[in-house]
Amino acid sequence: MDIATTSPTERRKLALAAVKELGPNRTEKAALKVRCPAGHTIAAVYPTSEGPVVVSKSGPGGRGNRDRESTGHHGDKLNSEFVDTLEATQFEDDDIPSGCACGPKGLSRTKLQAAFAAQEHVVNLT
Ligand SMILES: [Zn+2]
Repeated sequence: MDIATTSPTERRKLALAAVKELGPNRTEKAALKVRCPAGHTIAAVYPTSEGPVVVSKSGPGGRGNRDRESTGHHGDKLNSEFVDTLEATQFEDDDIPSGCACGPKGLSRTKLQAAFAAQEHVVNLT
């Protein structure tokens, strides 16, 4: 996939398909996890066939749920999560919608990219 010439909608669709390919045990394959101060995992980065993909949970009251297209697979919780490639064009928001039981959390794509590049395994939000 050429990130620079792929539309965000198409890119997220490819990212979602690539994450689904990882199968039911994908949490064991996470390269990087993001935790809130209370220890909730709010996001993870997975190495996939499309490159690193970020999967972020939207907590209660979290933004980013309403504009998501319904795919009809209501049993798959991936559809209630924000899934996108870690790489994106420079024209997009750095903010990745995410949150946990503690509330909405701001997640910086740039910060995640830096942590992934540094081969960190856990990012603890403060
Ligand atoms: Zn939390």
